[in-house]
Amino acid sequence: MKIAVLGSTGSIGTQTLEVARSYSEDITVVALAAGSNITLLEQQIREFHPVLAAVWSEEKAQELRLKVQDLDVKIVAGMDGLLEVATIADSEILVTAIVGMIGIQPTIAAIQAGKNIALANKETLVTAGHIIMPMAKEYNVAILPVDSEHSAIFQSLNGERHNHVSRILLTASGGPFRGRTREELKNVTVADALKHPNWSMGQKITIDSATLVNKGLEVMEAKWLFGVEYDNVEVVVQPQSIIHSMVEYEDGAVIAQLGTPDMKLPIQYALFYPERRYLEGERLDFGMLQQITFEKPDMDTFEGLKLAYQVGREGGSMPTVFNAANEYAVERFLKGKIAFLEIYEMIRTCLDAHTKIVNPSVEEILQTQQWVDELIRSKYD
Ligand code: NDP
Ligand code: MG
Repeated sequence: MKIAVLGSTGSIGTQTLEVARSYSEDITVVALAAGSNITLLEQQIREFHPVLAAVWSEEKAQELRLKVQDLDVKIVAGMDGLLEVATIADSEILVTAIVGMIGIQPTIAAIQAGKNIALANKETLVTAGHIIMPMAKEYNVAILPVDSEHSAIFQSLNGERHNHVSRILLTASGGPFRGRTREELKNVTVADALKHPNWSMGQKITIDSATLVNKGLEVMEAKWLFGVEYDNVEVVVQPQSIIHSMVEYEDGAVIAQLGTPDMKLPIQYALFYPERRYLEGERLDFGMLQQITFEKPDMDTFEGLKLAYQVGREGGSMPTVFNAANEYAVERFLKGKIAFLEIYEMIRTCLDAHTKIVNPSVEEILQTQQWVDELIRSKYD
């Protein structure tokens, strides 16, 4: 199988390439895209020999061209570069491991070019799910979830397609601040927020896990991927991250997928679906584990989840405002410009100021993102 990867230098991107490395007879990497880490991208180009690679700035692209001039690879830049990688002629699957709404246009272009999508980039589905899901159907392409919870749901739906799902039980670790009060969250640092108890991930999603915004985005992601109503998606805190999510059927049966926390499993499952392949790594030892515990999420303290349900139910451009405001707020939090709880405040400020667009086009989604950017700049910078 031939694959292209957007965000190859990131957490999901590098793990995707680990899977490609261990199944090099089955997987050919034809194109890669990264943001700015050209040192790693060069190594990846030398190892996987893609015919095309993209970086964001033209300046970095020029630098990279010099580094790899001994190789037969075309180096492109900017949004045009991402679009070229997304639609490259002979790839069959596009792995969207890029972070943020920048993934919208390349994902859409890939669908229109008939590529199956192994989707990690949840921000794209949250903001443009109403466009992407019908489009995937129209072009007869599969949207294969990479997010561990959604992969677990996807696996729990196997062979059950015609049976009635009564609830999706989306599990959450609760993040590094589980159990804390609002008062205790006031002065948490960037370093504290980056210490996820179970998963090692990119910085943005790690902060999103601490605010529970990530779980909120995942609730919306589940709505689009599985066509469920918000009333039927329940978040269950399962701090050990062993149960990756569950599906409850109308007879009360609950089917779950369990495993040690390792993103290579969902990545590999998406790439080889419907086949399962061997994956090296630890296996669950229930005797050692002894217990798996459950809690209700604290949505009053971790407002990110509550706001996500709210904007998801409102629909239209509201999820875009929620997501864009969060992207800009997290950027500022990571730079030490705002406090942890101000992430929620920025999101709320933008939501309150927005007039909803009912069925936004891609252009309107991008305009809304820009409106959020300007609002945050004018109010906070
Ligand atoms: P990382 O921050 O680790 O990686 C992001 C990748 O996107 C990097 O390769 C980065 O390149 C690239 N990138 C950023 N901006 C641009 C740009 N303008 N043009 C081209 N490439 C760009 O993120 P993660 O891997 O953690 O997350 C990726 C996506 O997957 C997110 O949507 C996240 O929510 C989702 N996800 C991640 C999980 C995880 O375990 N990490 C789990 C489930 C979902 P560079 O570094 O070279 O600048
Ligand atoms: Mg997840």
